[in-house]
Amino acid sequence: MKMEKAEKKSEGDQKEKSEGDKKEKSEGDKKEKSEGDKKEKSEGDKKEKSEGDQSVEQKEGAKVPSTSEDIKDQKGVSSPVNVSPGKADRSQFDPSRPNYHPVDHACWVQGQRVPYLAVARTFEKIEEDSGRLRNIETLSNLFRSVIALSPEDLLCCVYLCLNQLGPAYLGLELGVGETVLMKAVAQATGRQLDKIKAEAAEKGDLGLVAESSRSNQRIMFQPASLTAVGVFNKLKDIGNMSGNSAMNKKIDIIKGLFVACRFSEARYIVRSLAGKLRIGLAEQSVLAALSQAVCLTPPGQEFPPAVIDAGKGMSAEKQKSWIEEKSLILKQTYCEMPSYDVILPVLLKEGIDELPRHCKLTPGIPLRPMLAHPTKGVGEVMKRFDEAAFTCEYKYDGERAQIHILENGEVRIFSRNQEDNTTKYPDIISRIPTVKRESVVSCVLDAEAVAWDREKKQIQPFQVLTTRKRKDVDAADVKVQVCVYAFDLLYLNGESLVKQTLSRRRALLKESFQEKEGEFVFARAIDSNDTDAIAEFLEQSVRDSCEGLMVKTLEKDATYEIAKRSHNWLKLKKDYLDGVGDTMDLCVIGAYLGKGKRTGMYGGFLLACYDEDNEEFQSVCKIGTGFKDEDLEQHYKFLKEHILPKPRPYYRVDPSAGPDVWLDAVQVWEVKCADLSLSPIYKAGMGLVKKGISLRFPRFLRIRDDKKPEEATSGGQIADLYQKQQVVQNQGDKADLEDYY
Ligand code: ATP
Repeated sequence: MKMEKAEKKSEGDQKEKSEGDKKEKSEGDKKEKSEGDKKEKSEGDKKEKSEGDQSVEQKEGAKVPSTSEDIKDQKGVSSPVNVSPGKADRSQFDPSRPNYHPVDHACWVQGQRVPYLAVARTFEKIEEDSGRLRNIETLSNLFRSVIALSPEDLLCCVYLCLNQLGPAYLGLELGVGETVLMKAVAQATGRQLDKIKAEAAEKGDLGLVAESSRSNQRIMFQPASLTAVGVFNKLKDIGNMSGNSAMNKKIDIIKGLFVACRFSEARYIVRSLAGKLRIGLAEQSVLAALSQAVCLTPPGQEFPPAVIDAGKGMSAEKQKSWIEEKSLILKQTYCEMPSYDVILPVLLKEGIDELPRHCKLTPGIPLRPMLAHPTKGVGEVMKRFDEAAFTCEYKYDGERAQIHILENGEVRIFSRNQEDNTTKYPDIISRIPTVKRESVVSCVLDAEAVAWDREKKQIQPFQVLTTRKRKDVDAADVKVQVCVYAFDLLYLNGESLVKQTLSRRRALLKESFQEKEGEFVFARAIDSNDTDAIAEFLEQSVRDSCEGLMVKTLEKDATYEIAKRSHNWLKLKKDYLDGVGDTMDLCVIGAYLGKGKRTGMYGGFLLACYDEDNEEFQSVCKIGTGFKDEDLEQHYKFLKEHILPKPRPYYRVDPSAGPDVWLDAVQVWEVKCADLSLSPIYKAGMGLVKKGISLRFPRFLRIRDDKKPEEATSGGQIADLYQKQQVVQNQGDKADLEDYY
């Protein structure tokens, strides 16, 4: 595997760097940039190349140019003369600069490993800027350089940007405890632990403390500088260590990294280790940056690349739609095969258009599940789907279960968030052979696992399901029985079905499985466009202990292509009829100290939605109702560990709504409210409606452990709900009722 190869090389990386860096330090640092650059370029490059320990394998026939003249000579391509200015001064690397040139403006040369500082500088630039599109461009510029100069390092750079050690579904955790991190910072910098602790509490970011401690330190020898792959491998080593004895080993590795850190490197290494980069870079942005990079600077070219900016000469609009179209290919591929380990080598070798042919849905690897959009009533469903044929299914209130049957007979079960739930459901696994037809060799089923009372033969509430053990369940000990309600088939006998219509997928599902009462049942459905019939079915679903209905197109726009974000699944909950349309999942970002009965705890909380476009948390309401006493105790115990001295730069909160304590956005709550109103204070949906929007009379329902803060309800969704509410209100009571039924 690619990673192993990279690991072997990491030793060699260090050697070259120590030589090269000493030279950089003694000569380059003192000189003025303009002078130094040229000299460094011609001397330094040749030296580094000839010592060459750090080279990745070069393409056959690809010659490494040592000056811009070489570049010109080889390809006849006119490049600016003053190429590669940043090598002497990597700390000035700026992938956000206008007209970025992936070879000339990179701070390393072809064949070298990507310096970690290039990654850290990119993070700095992204952290400084809050514009999503600009940040995508900045990141894509780093990727363009990596693709042109050191494509072998693309994988580790992508993982560093995502702060992941491997595919998300493998659940490899990094999160090193804060105490361990502080100890390592103290030991590496020779500062006292107490001082580090105090400063971290004051700054609210151990990363910044590590960075300033590092730069204040005088050292005899500058150790080898860090490479992206070197840092990534160390992070992996740390992630793979467990048990008590691992603590000292972890501290040793972290110390080793810190000693070699320069400039902002320590900040991001600490944050990576702590589990959060805090630069507001969502995975969708990383995917967009990757597509932009491969579009503009296609991989697989000989060096120097003839095509540096394939978008040159295109109108901005044309370029945008071209990149979006390609980006959709990558995003959809990633939905079906969520593994950069698999996707990136293909992207580099075959190009973006070839991805769907090589990276396909594979049983055993969870695909991203299709989610649904809230609607406020049957009237809205009819309007949205217009003439399209659709089906209404019961919306069961349990846990999503993506059931994979592998060719070798193995069965795996994944959650809504692609976590492996296989050992949670041995009972489901053992019943699969009895419900699948013989014709089924391999498949992927989409289903809901719902708590089931065997005696009364009825569905039990979601809360009952949550009492089930989460891991390593012994089938004999299962007390909470579950029934599987199957509603989709995404793969069958070697063929992906995601491009098939739902009506075709559902027919195949029914041909491939048989029902068994209380164990495996097809989701109850009616295919009708009669408003009364649907309203009656909705009532029935609630009487049958379901949340309401899922409404899905059957033929038109009825594929399972998540990346297209089409509105082909709508949810219609009974709650919508008397509330705001749907419950919201909001992130806690602050708390107010309790008074009276709540003294000594938090009495209220500041909630925020997450705005994907700006990658920020927008305040939406203060909440103080819906809590039982034990809820408040539990929240206090948990949240006090996440206090921040000041709000994150990506919190959008009016100063007048500032809480008593700021909290790190780590937990999502499901909340219900009476309605939505425009607000001079709260910021949800800013820019989409005249002012911000706030929730009126919010009530706490439960913690959503299965949602990450970035998966909270978005500003856009809140603005949408607000606008719908206005339309309904403006139509008066009669229309109101019509819209519901
Ligand atoms: P919520 O907060 O409403 O649970 P969510 O984001 O977890 O939101 P939704 O988009 O509301 O999920 O609804 C989709 C979920 O409903 C699915 O993830 C699945 O677990 C569940 N579900 C139950 N019945 C069905 C069905 N017939 N078809 C699809 N999903 C269903």
